Amino acid sequence: MASEDRVDQDTVGLFGRRGAMRWVVIAAALVLIAFVALGALTVTYALVGFAVIAAVALLVADRSRADDAALAIDAVPPRADELLLDAVMAGLPDAAIVLDREGRLIASNAAARALAPALTRGQRASLALRMPEIVDAVRQVGISGEPRSVEFSQRVPVDRWFVAHVAPLGGLSGERAGLILLVFHDLTPSRRVEEMRVDFVANASHELRTPLAALSGFIDTLLGSARDDAAARARFLAIMKTQATRMARLIDDLLSLSRVELIEHVHPDKPVDLVAIVRQVTDSLQTLAQDRGVEIAVTPPPQPMTVLGDRDELTRVFENLVENALKYGASGKRVEVGFATAEVSGGTDVLVSVRDHGPGIAAEHLPRLTERFYRVDVTQSRAEGGTGLGLALVKHILNRHRGRISIESEAGKGATFTARMPLVHSESH
Ligand code: ADP
Repeated sequence: MASEDRVDQDTVGLFGRRGAMRWVVIAAALVLIAFVALGALTVTYALVGFAVIAAVALLVADRSRADDAALAIDAVPPRADELLLDAVMAGLPDAAIVLDREGRLIASNAAARALAPALTRGQRASLALRMPEIVDAVRQVGISGEPRSVEFSQRVPVDRWFVAHVAPLGGLSGERAGLILLVFHDLTPSRRVEEMRVDFVANASHELRTPLAALSGFIDTLLGSARDDAAARARFLAIMKTQATRMARLIDDLLSLSRVELIEHVHPDKPVDLVAIVRQVTDSLQTLAQDRGVEIAVTPPPQPMTVLGDRDELTRVFENLVENALKYGASGKRVEVGFATAEVSGGTDVLVSVRDHGPGIAAEHLPRLTERFYRVDVTQSRAEGGTGLGLALVKHILNRHRGRISIESEAGKGATFTARMPLVHSESH
């Protein structure tokens, strides 16, 4: 009904486009006659002017007739096979359109209309798609009858990549012969994963190459100019040891990360007490805390906090969090480790928070801290022996434990890292 209304208003009504053109020509003729009668225009100029106005009016009216043809298709009630086609298209997971042999749109689904909002039934799809690669592929398929696939990208509003599969719909005859199906598959998620993989390999190689370059530089010096210099040798060997340790730590973190990712979907099933794990971690970090002049204050709950977990992995989580607090928040002189519980749908979560009073972290960094190799200050992280992988590892280990990490901080006001995971309900709770 709506489209029939549009046909009336746009084309045949008094103020529709074709109706209006008729009035424009009549009005122009009257004005020109008046000018001639008043002697303001010669008959020749008046005739030329009239011819130009009439030609323009004819052109506009003709375009509106072409639009009528397109709109009229919408006005015809859909047939059973069209309803079936629409239902099939709506069920497709990808954007899809069907064109007739003239390249006019016969059917489209919502995903296709989201991709190309200008798509209108009955109109040439090439105008709405505005993608020369696809227009060309449709033409080729029309000629050869062979399916084709073509990749293309959209830059606005965000970068997206697609592959369009263009295929003839065989086995149809009469007015349905020569139909072409286009299916647009979104390649963006796989492209993003690929980009991340490439970035990761580039970052990991870079991180390994830096200490390796230092090591080989010192080896050359020791073999050359410093060969007989005992003092230089001792100094260089100490630096080489630091660099070798850094490489070992990086490889260790990379392996841990890939191991956890491989089994991330397998949830641990052994009950472990988080309070005992945290105590063990803070005890083992006392020497580092003393070196930094920081006091670690643990407030343990009276009862154990049991979760289903992997002891070694959870130890790694709290080692990373407390070590970071000691390294980056040392100026605050105090690190507090606290426990809490929170009721959630389906049970209770345990929350372990590690809080420091150091410089804190500016808000723009917070969402990215758990990305691999992301550091607020690369030089400081390297000086502290950091790899930039610690919090990524924490995130993946907690995912495996059906948990998550949250970070709260304000520049200048310290930082609180909270690990949360489901508590196991035992007799003690
Ligand atoms: P790194 O090996 O560099 O410590 P992490 O993944 O553990 O890597 O941490 C990433 C970055 O987050 C660190 O380089 C540091 O910039 C920042 N960061 C982590 N913990 C804190 C903290 N408690 N206070 C301030 N900055 C922190």
